[in-house]
Amino acid sequence: MKDRVYNFAAGPSCIPLEVLEKARDELVNFGESGMSVMEMTHRGKDFAVIFSRAKEQLRRALSVPESHEILFLQGGATLQFAAVPMNLLGTGTADYAVTGQFSGKAAKEAEKYGKVHLACDTSASGHDRIPAQGELRTSENAAYFYYCSNNTIYGTEWYYTPETDAVLVCDMSSDILSRPVDVSRYGLIYAGAQKNMSPAGLTVVVLDRELAGKALSCTPEVMRYDVLIENDSMLNTPPCWCIYMLSLELEWLEKQGGVSAMEKMRKERAALVYDVLDNSRFYIAHAQPDSRSFMNVTFRTPSEDLDRAFVAGAEKCGLVNLKGHRLTGGIRASLYNSMPMEGALRLAEYMKRFEEENRCMQ
Ligand SMILES: *Cc1c(COP(=O)(O)O)cnc(C)c1O
Repeated sequence: MKDRVYNFAAGPSCIPLEVLEKARDELVNFGESGMSVMEMTHRGKDFAVIFSRAKEQLRRALSVPESHEILFLQGGATLQFAAVPMNLLGTGTADYAVTGQFSGKAAKEAEKYGKVHLACDTSASGHDRIPAQGELRTSENAAYFYYCSNNTIYGTEWYYTPETDAVLVCDMSSDILSRPVDVSRYGLIYAGAQKNMSPAGLTVVVLDRELAGKALSCTPEVMRYDVLIENDSMLNTPPCWCIYMLSLELEWLEKQGGVSAMEKMRKERAALVYDVLDNSRFYIAHAQPDSRSFMNVTFRTPSEDLDRAFVAGAEKCGLVNLKGHRLTGGIRASLYNSMPMEGALRLAEYMKRFEEENRCMQ
């Protein structure tokens, strides 16, 4: 059997081996149910235990206050680009901070349902930085302020929570559970699970219950937060297997020491790679130093040919999926919670070796 590799994919992404092994052990017969989780009715008592356990674990891991509800949905983060304005915008205006591809898409989607005001737009500089608080242009009486805390494609991350009078809405798809967050400051947080939580197919929404019940009348039932809360995420069949996997990942996360341990680890992991970039006259980092992401490190070599050689050479060493997104080109290393420190260490060593071998050829 070929060894497992270090998988730097941006999403779907790596899952702790321990979690996969537990899922394997329980695959064909979960507990004393005599069946796989994949075969269970979502209305049965075996699945009810898995479901409420996952919800409790997430509430604990993120310190979600009682004022906020947790929803387990489908449709990816992308469905929330529409669900957020359909539920929260009403006849008002929403402020959107566009700092990358996904927040841009969300703003465009929201324009279908109401007025969108751009609080910032960093596209002119290739989304290489996050604006400071003072640069944000907020509108009066905005229904909400929308931002994406970590830009998966460009590799930038907000180091602060925007100050605004409006309800805060945040796409945390690629940095949720990687650091402590004061959830009470947010009206709504959502995240596609496949970056930092679980396999693809699950979207987690955490929202202040007070915000539900104001959806546009054309909003599909399956996208209405009030209906979803009332039905405890079971208006229709939820992504049962993904919820089970989330529960296993959260069990693992808790054992590691929770989100504060994750934050410490993500800093160490990212520092290993950024140190190489900072001490190099070969690699070119995409993100400005004061905005760079702890989750997705984006950089390039002096040429596209060398970028390709870098990615191909890394693959031979068991470091895979390092090719950058097509919008940025170059190289992207995603260092999510499940990436072992050893993976980041191996990558840093490979980067130094590759630079030494190729610098003189420039
Ligand atoms: C991946 C990603 C998305 C899109 O997620 P889907 O689940 O594919 O819809 C949205 N926002 C961010 C920040 C992402 O990283």
